[in-house]
Amino acid sequence: MIQETVLIANRGEIALRIIRACRRLGLRAICVHSEADRGAPWLALADSALCIGPAPAQASYLHIPAILAAAKATGADLIHPGYGFLSERAEFAAAVAEAGLRLIGPRADVMRKMGDKVEAKKALLRAGVPCVPGPDSVLPDDPQAVANAAEAIGYPVILKAAGGGGGRGMRVVRQRTDLDEAFLLTRQEASRFFGNPDIYMEKFLERPRHVEIQIIADSHGNALWLGDRDCSMQRRHQKLIEEAPAPGIDRALIAAVGERCAAACREIGYVGAGTFEFLYEDGQFYFIEMNTRIQVEHPVTELVTGLDIVALQIDVARGASLALLQSEVGLAGHAIECRINAEDPENFAPHPGQITALHLPGGPGIRVDSHVVPGYTIPPHYDSMIAKVIAHGATRAEALSRLRTALQELCVEGIKTNIPLHRQMLAEHGFVGGGVSIHHLEHWLKARE
Ligand code: ADP
Repeated sequence: MIQETVLIANRGEIALRIIRACRRLGLRAICVHSEADRGAPWLALADSALCIGPAPAQASYLHIPAILAAAKATGADLIHPGYGFLSERAEFAAAVAEAGLRLIGPRADVMRKMGDKVEAKKALLRAGVPCVPGPDSVLPDDPQAVANAAEAIGYPVILKAAGGGGGRGMRVVRQRTDLDEAFLLTRQEASRFFGNPDIYMEKFLERPRHVEIQIIADSHGNALWLGDRDCSMQRRHQKLIEEAPAPGIDRALIAAVGERCAAACREIGYVGAGTFEFLYEDGQFYFIEMNTRIQVEHPVTELVTGLDIVALQIDVARGASLALLQSEVGLAGHAIECRINAEDPENFAPHPGQITALHLPGGPGIRVDSHVVPGYTIPPHYDSMIAKVIAHGATRAEALSRLRTALQELCVEGIKTNIPLHRQMLAEHGFVGGGVSIHHLEHWLKARE
């Protein structure tokens, strides 16, 4: 049998994570990289590496023709987009298919549909997935109609760009007098940042938690949900700590929502790994959006399920059937992940530079996903995440205790990192108690000032 080849259109820890999955499946792994990543440590672990352009992502990791040319030149069969970069660009999915290659992810039309938050909401409502109250259509360009919609939902409401992402293109409106201006500003942002002026409106939930459901679906109509994650520890919509399962939520309720998510995948013909993101407040789940890719925080789910989600997503992209029944997906113990960033722990400014010394923790129940090595220079052009430290334990308390020990051991010299912040968060009363809202971390940071 001819060995298949996966081209990895990404960098850093996720490129390494995908190389590892390829090894496990006996596939060749090819990396493309920018000039800034020449000689980067993960490239040495790939079967080969190709430079596709200069440092700016637009000219390399986002440059579709260069990536497709690299795929052709190396005889790749599949392309793994990782997360970020091109991973949720439907035009990339379409270009990959047109070039006769397979993207490890859903079809372009499915990606486009789920990437439009209004379309996604409509599809999920049809599948019986609960959504945040609000019209399941874009708002008309008529101030009175917009005001009527807000009145019907009840203030506060949130205006959101249908094509938005990364926590941008959203505006909370607490009273009628602020509505017209907020609408205009959000409309402008939506056009400018996302090239799609469509705006929709939802009830603004004051103190929700962020709880998400991991799914995996094959091309034969099978879809499974692989448990839940709580990612409420965020700053400016950037997740810092994630855990599985979400503490203190009725498991029967989560199972019911998970089943609905899997059903929605079957209905929309979704193939691949994906995440349904929810806000959870007062015992209710409200869908907000779907991510049609692997997520940074997938390891916590891997540790509690014992599954290799990246290998599974490659398998289903190759046409395999999921060899697992929902009843065989077990959730054992608890897992917590800290995202270690090269940034100033006080003001959060990125702090690229050379890592002069490095010690990564280990021991029972500890997993570290990291692409950095001693002497490695973090380039200033990309994401500042340098490692994920993940702990697994029989209970949440055990996972927390192991994670604290790991964070004490972890040592990165030469650059500033958020390790001191993580150490404090892991001892912080609210987080230790479990079940904090998405505002908890920012409130705590403010109170600390
Ligand atoms: P993005 O694609 O930009 O991440 P989301 O729709 O996922 O946008 O929303 C990002 C974040 O904004 C959520 O995690 C939550 O913190 C906040 N948010 C979004 N919708 C609501 C809402 N209806 N009520 C309260 N907060 C919200």
